[in-house]
Amino acid sequence: MSKLKIAIQKSGRLSEKSLDLLKDCGIKISTSNRKLRTESSNFPIEVLFLRDDDIPQYVEQGVADIGILGENEVWEKNKDVTSIRQLGFAGCKMCLAIPKDEIYTDLTYFEGKKIATSYPTILRNFFQENNINVKIEEIGGSVEIAPSIGLANAIFDIVSTGSTLLTNGLKQVETVVESQAVLIGNQNLDAEKQAILDRLLFRIEAVKQSSENKYILLNAPNDKLDEIITLLPGMKSPTVLPLAEKGWSSVHTVIKEDTFWDIIEQLKAFGAEGILVLEIEKMIL
Ligand code: ATP
Ligand code: MG
Repeated sequence: MSKLKIAIQKSGRLSEKSLDLLKDCGIKISTSNRKLRTESSNFPIEVLFLRDDDIPQYVEQGVADIGILGENEVWEKNKDVTSIRQLGFAGCKMCLAIPKDEIYTDLTYFEGKKIATSYPTILRNFFQENNINVKIEEIGGSVEIAPSIGLANAIFDIVSTGSTLLTNGLKQVETVVESQAVLIGNQNLDAEKQAILDRLLFRIEAVKQSSENKYILLNAPNDKLDEIITLLPGMKSPTVLPLAEKGWSSVHTVIKEDTFWDIIEQLKAFGAEGILVLEIEKMIL
């Protein structure tokens, strides 16, 4: 029986989260002996540990069937691979920054300027779309020091907190793209591998849904039940059970994590009591 080969980053910002995702999907992987490839003991998958820069190429060629890496790296490498699903972690912005004492107006500031970056493809496309001519100086890393050593007028790089920019006397002036981790795949997977991928995606969906939702239980006075239920959409509709105490019911449902503080305040206003909010381990819709 064939196995699905997944490439993940060997060591770096994506490594742990990628392995956690597989683990949350119930896929057991031993990472003990620092091997560059390993098989799962309970799912037909083989894991290859690679540098993230190499993953698009390996997936295009079919050395790996699927891979997890930052969208920024996928755009930069521009290989023929399919973006299957965004994964919601390793979010970052890619920004243009200039020396902090410069006066910035708009993108035309960059006309004729030299910009240092490790992401020349993304940058070139961006300025082409905006009809601005720039010179791109491609460097491998430590991009932030380029202006102070006279290599470039500006930089284009990944920015998370902006503190690295500040310590190098730079300020962020434009966000060009926002990126997050993504699952990519080879464009010609055979039916057997596609079937394994579908099983994996089903599990990823359940893991992601559960992290975006909470299970909520509360006690509601019966005369306010209708109002309370309209606040709680739930997967179908909430479960309502009578409490031993007359005139009260217990209401159970699932709510979106991002709406939950708003809803809880309104629930309390309608007299809801004993509100419990629980983590969901897995959620299958
Ligand atoms: P490799 O050795 O595998 O080439 P790397 O040094 O290129 O690793 P990391 O620094 O581990 O890569 O970053 C991997 C990805 O994490 C980036 O491509 C990006 O998508 C994402 N990321 C999220 N936040 C940040 C950040 N603050 N700085 C850099 N990358 C970030
Ligand atoms: Mg890299």
